[in-house]
Amino acid sequence: MTNRAVGLADLPLRPELVGEEPYGAPQLDVPVCLNVNENPYAPSDRVRAEIAEGAARAAGGMNRYPDREATALRTRLAAYLGHGLRLENIWAANGSNEVMTHLLQAFGGPDRSLLTFAPTYSMYPEYARNTHTRYLTEPREADFTIDPARAVAAIEQHRPDVVVITTPNNPTGTATGFDVLRPILDAAPGIVVVDEAYQEFVQPGVPSALELLPDHPRLVVSRTMSKAFAFAGGRLGYLAAGEAVVDACRIVRLPYHLSAVTQAVACVALDNADEMMAHVAELRAGRDDMVDWLTAQGLPVVPTSANFVLFGAFADRHAVWAGLLSDGVLIRETGPAGMLRVSVGTPEEMAAFKTSLRRILDEENTDR
Ligand SMILES: *Cc1c(COP(=O)(O)O)cnc(C)c1O
Repeated sequence: MTNRAVGLADLPLRPELVGEEPYGAPQLDVPVCLNVNENPYAPSDRVRAEIAEGAARAAGGMNRYPDREATALRTRLAAYLGHGLRLENIWAANGSNEVMTHLLQAFGGPDRSLLTFAPTYSMYPEYARNTHTRYLTEPREADFTIDPARAVAAIEQHRPDVVVITTPNNPTGTATGFDVLRPILDAAPGIVVVDEAYQEFVQPGVPSALELLPDHPRLVVSRTMSKAFAFAGGRLGYLAAGEAVVDACRIVRLPYHLSAVTQAVACVALDNADEMMAHVAELRAGRDDMVDWLTAQGLPVVPTSANFVLFGAFADRHAVWAGLLSDGVLIRETGPAGMLRVSVGTPEEMAAFKTSLRRILDEENTDR
């Protein structure tokens, strides 16, 4: 029996949740999905079969709780990252979103604050709200970079418990170098999280904040298998940090938070890392091509190191978004006013996007 007469307003919901909507990009069934920065290439038939075998092996022990410490998985993640990292330096959870929640449960909370640099990832305020952490933002520069002196001044003013720097940043694609990270690490009184969800897409040779870990015990580098690794459906995010940070996450995690199936199939994916990431160089080239093409159409484009491009600026971005959708192309209405974000897809998907956007731009011109 369901009682439809009782709505959300009739329930004793926490006051800060009243009027809130469940967050997430629209999940629409369209031919060309370029809206959530996934790797467009599904696993090969061979890896698919191995993933199925891994799930079948996990099924054989399904009456038992999984390994609470996810030892086999964390060992593989450490090997994947290199940099001398070991099992003890790695924490894993159901996507970066759960990793970030663990970090804020451990280091944020009531009377504590998180500082980040806007515009940035739209999930951070949700993690902060859910953990009762005060959410503070400092604006990025006009070109979406972070000015180190202004960042340090903001840190000194607010004394945040957690600082989050996203590099490459979502939704702008902006990379942040050590010249900015180092002064922030020196100034921050608490934890500094560098969210490197898109790190595998940066130009080869651009260093990762992993290199800074040995000298910075309060630095946390967050990664995910959802983007370059082509494993968004597997839900596996992870971090690298000093052992003590991992110990803090182990205090707040729910027991057995990573299912036996998740652990097994993520291990298979990591054992096939080269194949899972086989298209990354091609996606990087596709990204550069997309920047060139959008620029050639006369559209301002934000320089990007990720697998997506923020472009614009449109007087009515929703109309452009809807026009693309009417052609079966789904992109993301996000970021600063007038801007749209498109993920890099397969050559066929990008051709469909270009054809549709060109049509929309031409129609706009004839209207003028
Ligand atoms: C996509 C994304 C993530 C990854 O989220 P998952 O929960 O691991 O899928 C993390 N950080 C940023 C900035 C992202 O854009």
